[in-house]
Amino acid sequence: MDLPSTNFDGALRARAARVIPGGMWGHQNAPRLPAGYPQYFSRAEGCRTWDADGRDYIDFICGWGPMILGYNDVDVEAAAAKQRALGDAMNGPSERLVELAELMVETVSHADWAMFSKNGTDATTACLTIARAGTGRRKILVARGAYHGAIPWCSPSVAGVTEEDRAHLVYYDYNDVRSLEAAVEQCKGDLAAILVSAFKHDLGKSHELPTVAFAQSARALADTADAALIVDDVRAGFRLDMGGSWEVVGVRPDLAAWSKAIANGHALAAVTGNDRFRDGATRIFTTGSFWTAAVSMASSIATIRKLQSVDGVAHMRAMGQRFRDGLEAQAAKHGVPLRQSGPVQMPVLLFDNDADRRLGDVFCLEALARGVYLHPSHTLFLSAAHREADIDQALMVTDEALAAVARL
Ligand code: PMP
Repeated sequence: MDLPSTNFDGALRARAARVIPGGMWGHQNAPRLPAGYPQYFSRAEGCRTWDADGRDYIDFICGWGPMILGYNDVDVEAAAAKQRALGDAMNGPSERLVELAELMVETVSHADWAMFSKNGTDATTACLTIARAGTGRRKILVARGAYHGAIPWCSPSVAGVTEEDRAHLVYYDYNDVRSLEAAVEQCKGDLAAILVSAFKHDLGKSHELPTVAFAQSARALADTADAALIVDDVRAGFRLDMGGSWEVVGVRPDLAAWSKAIANGHALAAVTGNDRFRDGATRIFTTGSFWTAAVSMASSIATIRKLQSVDGVAHMRAMGQRFRDGLEAQAAKHGVPLRQSGPVQMPVLLFDNDADRRLGDVFCLEALARGVYLHPSHTLFLSAAHREADIDQALMVTDEALAAVARL
């Protein structure tokens, strides 16, 4: 890759520092990454992104998950353009709303109905509200360390958060049946819902699929307590199984939260639910100025249909496996303690004994300098736009990056 001599990224950061608190908020704040990662991007196509200075990368973050078919996918963008010419945010929804709700109900195994909003946090929060409205109870079980969004009940930061915001949350450990049982016991007849991530994908930790025993216990405990089982499928939705991520363990939730990939990068979130919670969902008041906008719904319909027609899940699994196998062989060759975990289409790449992330940061920076965008602690994402040639090109780069780690 020819290194550009410009520093548009630096200039934008300097301007941003004056007019944006901290220069950038939240998880996309580049200073949270090893120094050298760009903050600003200028364009994206297929599985590649270009930063503000024109460097291009094979992208394994996929816009933090939303890109699932490829940036600028022709079919999704054609559906979006067609709808944009007709209308987007209007006085009420378009026909696309009903079509999309029908498609979600047809596609997602547990779903008898669907509602839409914009961000994952909208959807996870609505699931809690619906569960409380439907059961008339207050307590929600949440796994320690799990991410469900960025408002006071679930933010990873406590700045500006009061104890009362989290007053009715009770914590358990993911995949630990005993801790789940103990948490249910603590709720004493006031349990509204058990909230679970699609799989354990906490930042900087090895990722774990749910065990069948854990998933079945969560289902049984929710049933016994007459509470809701909620799957937060915001991150994993449509990457593990089109029917919902807990199909892989054969357990169906009552409610599920979706966002990220469901419209291939267009802003959309969804809650799906079963008939047991239709009444609760009917009674809550939930809305947003842009929640019925039709372009993202047209995009979502096109995304789901295309994922089905190309068997996106199988493709992502195959590409993820190719990447994992290649990395495993390289790590063994270089004698570096690379630890890969999570489903192959949503892996996390960590190193043993690397609490200070020394190895992880060098690995990612060496890959970045050679045109591969990884992350040292977050879930990575494969997409239907990653082809064998992209994976093989990325593996040529990781070979050199792992060699650099071996020299440390
Ligand atoms: N739940 C999970 C599992 C997520 O990964 C995220 C986003 N990273 C959210 C909820 C919140 O989604 P959003 O950022 O769109 O509000």
